[in-house]
Amino acid sequence: MKKIVVKFGGSNLKSKEDIQKIIKTIKGYNRPLVIVVSAFYGITNFLTEGLETVRRDDKHITSMIDFLKSMKKETLDENISDATTREIAYNLIQKRLEELEKYLLGIHYIGEIPDFVEDKVLSYGEKLSSLILSLILKSHGIDAVEAMPEDIGLVTDGAFRNASIDFEKSREPVCKALSEDKIYIIPGFYGVSNDGKVNLLGRGGSDYSAAAITSCIDGESLDVWKDVNGYMSADPRLVPHAVRINKLSYNEAAELSYFGAKILHPRTVEPLLQSEIPVRIFNINNAGIIEPLSIIGNEEQSEKRTLKSVTYSDSFAILRLEGAGVGIKEGILAKVTSMFDDNRINIKSVVTSQTAINIYLESPDLGRALKLLKSNTPHTITSVIPYDNLSIIALVGDDLIHSHGLAYKMIGAVAEQGIDLRIVSIGASDSAAYCVVDRNNKEEAVRVIHKTFFEKRN
Ligand code: ASP
Ligand code: MG
Repeated sequence: MKKIVVKFGGSNLKSKEDIQKIIKTIKGYNRPLVIVVSAFYGITNFLTEGLETVRRDDKHITSMIDFLKSMKKETLDENISDATTREIAYNLIQKRLEELEKYLLGIHYIGEIPDFVEDKVLSYGEKLSSLILSLILKSHGIDAVEAMPEDIGLVTDGAFRNASIDFEKSREPVCKALSEDKIYIIPGFYGVSNDGKVNLLGRGGSDYSAAAITSCIDGESLDVWKDVNGYMSADPRLVPHAVRINKLSYNEAAELSYFGAKILHPRTVEPLLQSEIPVRIFNINNAGIIEPLSIIGNEEQSEKRTLKSVTYSDSFAILRLEGAGVGIKEGILAKVTSMFDDNRINIKSVVTSQTAINIYLESPDLGRALKLLKSNTPHTITSVIPYDNLSIIALVGDDLIHSHGLAYKMIGAVAEQGIDLRIVSIGASDSAAYCVVDRNNKEEAVRVIHKTFFEKRN
C-alpha cells in the first residue's frame, strides 16, 4: 500500500491546543504515515537572530538554551501525563539541546559563523519538533519513530542555506528507510550533502522536504495541514466573500506561491509533477477530519474555470537602472546579474526599455543590492533608483494568456479606481499576469480585480 506523507508546519505548532489537534489528526488517518514537521512557530527566526548575538556574547548561549528548554518542558508537561515518561522525555530533549549548545559555543570561540555551522544550528528548530512530537505521540500509544534526514539518506546538491534534493541519490535509501508500517516523524527544512553536512532547503523549505520525501517513496499524496481554508479566489482578509478553489493545477499552485499566497513554498510541487502525486490542503481546525479543502493535481483534474485567484505580495522591490540607451547596449544586465548572483541576491524578474532596466528583487535584498551597484556601477548607467513600498498583484489561472481581453479588463478595472499602475506584465508564463501598484493602493486594487473577474459574468 502506498503511503501518505503528512506535513505539519509552524502554523500548526503555535498554541497550546495545537499538539492535541495533531494527535487527533494522526489518529483520524488510522494508517501508517510519514510525517514531516517544521520548527515551532517563530523558532527559526529566534535561532537566526541568536546566532549573531552568540558570536559576540557567550551569555546569550545560556539564555537561548534556557528559553528553548522551558518552552519544550511546558509542551511536555501539557501533553504527557505519566511522570516517568515525562522525565525520560525531558532527558532526551536536554541531550539534543546540549548538542545545539556545543555548536553555539563553537561559534562564540571562533568568532565566525561558517556556512556549515549556520545550517546545522538552524536545523535544530525542526530537530526539536520531531523529537518532541515523537515522544508525545508514543506517550499516547502511537507507534511513532523519529527518522532523521541524515539517517534515511535525504541527499542534497551540497549548497548551504538553499539546497536542492538530489533525487537520484535519495530515492532508494529514503524508500528503504521508510518502508515499515509505522508513523515516521521527520524534521523538515534540511537534507545532507554527500559528505554528511547539513544543508538547509531555503526558508519555508519543510514543504519542499515533505514533497521530496513523497516523491522518493512514490507516496499516495502529500497532505499539508495549515490553519486556513485551503486556496481561495483571494485573501479572505481583504475579500471576505472570496470563494474556495477545490482543485488547481501544479503550475497554478506554483505561480500563486511565487506571487505571495502563503499556503505552500514555491518549490513544493516541483518534485511531484512528474509522477503526478497530488498535494491536498487541510485546515488543522478541522482536526481529525480527513477531507481535503483544495487539491493540487494535473491540469485535467483542475477546475475548468480559467482564472483561479488574485494574489499579492508586499515583499517585491524594484531597482531601476537608468541611462541613455541601456536597452541596446550589450553586457550591462550580465554584469549586474552576475554581481547579484555572487552575493546570493535572487532576481525575481527583469523588465527593460531603451532608457531603463527594472530589476525585481525580494524587498529584504534591496538595500544590499543598491549598495553593491553604487560601489560598482557600469559606466552606462547614470542613476540607480530603488522602489520599495510597492505591491505586486497577480491573476493566476492556467492558459490565462488566451483569455480574451484579460489585460484590458485588469488594467481598466484598476485605472477606473484612479490607481496608477507602475508596471504590467502578461505573458511571462501561460498561467500568470500581474501589475505593480503603490502599496497603499494594494487592497483596493485586489478588491477591484477580484470583483471584475470573479464576482460578475464578463
Ligand atoms: N522552519 C523553517 C522556516 O521557518 C522551515 C519551515 O518552516 O518550513 O523557514
Ligand atoms: Mg513553513
